[in-house]
Amino acid sequence: MVTRQDCITLDERDGLAEYRHKFTLPEGEIYLDGNSLGAMPSHLPARIQEVVVKEWGNGLIRSWNDAGWIHVPKRISAKVARLIGANADEVTVADSTSVNLYKALATAARLNPDRKVILTELDNFPTDLYIAQGIAELFGLEIRYVESTPEAVLAALDDSICLTMLTHVNYRTGAIYPMAEITAKAHQVGALIVWDLAHSAGAVEVDLNAAEVDLAVGCGYKYLNGGPGAPSFIYVAKRHHQQMRQPLSGWHGHAKPFEFVLDYQPADGMDRMQCGTPPLISMLGLDAALDVFDGVDMHDLRIKSMALCDLFIKLVDEKLSEYDFGLASPRDSAVRGSQVSLTHKQGYAIVQALIARGITGDFRMPNILRFGFTPLYVRYVDVYDTVQAIAEIMVKDEWNQAQFLTKKAVT
Ligand SMILES: *Cc1c(COP(=O)(O)O)cnc(C)c1O
Repeated sequence: MVTRQDCITLDERDGLAEYRHKFTLPEGEIYLDGNSLGAMPSHLPARIQEVVVKEWGNGLIRSWNDAGWIHVPKRISAKVARLIGANADEVTVADSTSVNLYKALATAARLNPDRKVILTELDNFPTDLYIAQGIAELFGLEIRYVESTPEAVLAALDDSICLTMLTHVNYRTGAIYPMAEITAKAHQVGALIVWDLAHSAGAVEVDLNAAEVDLAVGCGYKYLNGGPGAPSFIYVAKRHHQQMRQPLSGWHGHAKPFEFVLDYQPADGMDRMQCGTPPLISMLGLDAALDVFDGVDMHDLRIKSMALCDLFIKLVDEKLSEYDFGLASPRDSAVRGSQVSLTHKQGYAIVQALIARGITGDFRMPNILRFGFTPLYVRYVDVYDTVQAIAEIMVKDEWNQAQFLTKKAVT
């Protein structure tokens, strides 16, 4: 049996423990939802205050030059690139993940014009599928859906596929696809690949260059902690830069935006993936948030992430075996991201009862209790206390109350 003291000892020996102090969390909060909205880095409020009061309030429009606003996307891109195994000039930060997916899919479709099929997975995140449906309609493509398993995807890759769109770490189960293997097979059959790194970037090791990935997108407000609605990133491998064309041909992606000429002429490299004026307050929040990763070795982070998740599963096995929970995530940490999902028919109410106790996870249809373990601020003792709290909620039927059973708008 794992004791609470064992967990405290693990925290004392944890090489990443000091990073928790770089975040501000409410007193007593155990936050297991960094996979949906990352916690706030402690230095953000002062930085946002400076951006608003000094750079905007005093600097006004001069800040485009004086505060270097025009260079912000490039600066942030370099910070993101290190976390995903890309070169700085293969990444840019702009818009939302949904919008970047739109650009990525359209770009890929244009790079492979003789093929007519988008291959994707049934359990992909809805916005990814909705965007693919919009692109399919616009480009006259067909979507082929397969089960969300590596085997099903590999089997479906044939020479009809124009592009494959997959989410690297599944948002519901946390299962990880073998990126290099699937990318290689896609290339073998002449297809391009677009990976969504929403649940990967900042949480698991990603090496886009080593896997020779064509395009990727990812989220700024989950494990990158950029704040609600923070901009997203898009990656395109250097070898496609000459030929790539994206459909949102706005002025910030123009070769010479301040010459105000009649015709659109795409900028060189990833600047081309920009569209309009970036949301600078949000951008600069993400820029500052990424500094939390300074000095973090992604391999160390991954090791701790796997250990937290393994500990959670072990404690669930020990303490919750009589309450009909299922495990929706892989048991093998090698193929599991930084989250563990349980199933239970009262999943929604149990999550609400946990939130009332100051432990935040979330619920995903139809019956999934989702717990994200962000290695930079979650402690081993938090894992212990969470499973202990679930056990108490179950033994006392604490979940069975009207205020926990009624669904809110955001689950
Ligand atoms: C969170 C998430 C998104 C979010 O897209 P937005 O445009 O930021 O709303 C997209 N795809 C996946 C796989 C996600 O997990």
